[in-house]
Amino acid sequence: MLLPMMLLDFLRHKVLKNKRNLPNRYILIVGLAGLLPDIDIPISYLFSGLVVHRGITHTAWVSLLFLLGFAILQFVKKHDMAKIFLMISIGTGSHVALDVLTAGSLQLFYPLSNAYFAVNLIPKLFPHIGVTFAYTVLDALLLFGWIATIILRRRVQDIF
Ligand SMILES: [Zn+2]
Repeated sequence: MLLPMMLLDFLRHKVLKNKRNLPNRYILIVGLAGLLPDIDIPISYLFSGLVVHRGITHTAWVSLLFLLGFAILQFVKKHDMAKIFLMISIGTGSHVALDVLTAGSLQLFYPLSNAYFAVNLIPKLFPHIGVTFAYTVLDALLLFGWIATIILRRRVQDIF
């Protein structure tokens, strides 16, 4: 959740220079959308008592579908709604990308293709620590770094 939010915040800061075009609520939408693919855990548990994880919600289609929605809404000039669709596309897309990068494998183009995609950076780089532990440490470090950059940024803005 944190990484896509930070990425967007960083991009917003670097590219847009002002926050008027992309208010904080969009950053929040990206963060929430970043959690969306894991909704398969509670839903499957609720309905079957079994946890089905990394299924259809972890394909590239979710993000692409919202990207398509963005294009259509942009075309019919519903720009505010289009932005929300774009944020959801970025959020869900980065979740799936991070899952592939960090640990485990995903069938990105299921049911069109059964191929599995995996990079498995965490087990490759840190074979002796658990994946869950690695995620926790990563999240904590990211949050700490993010807060630090916000404080630094404020300070710089105070000077100029
Ligand atoms: Zn996931």
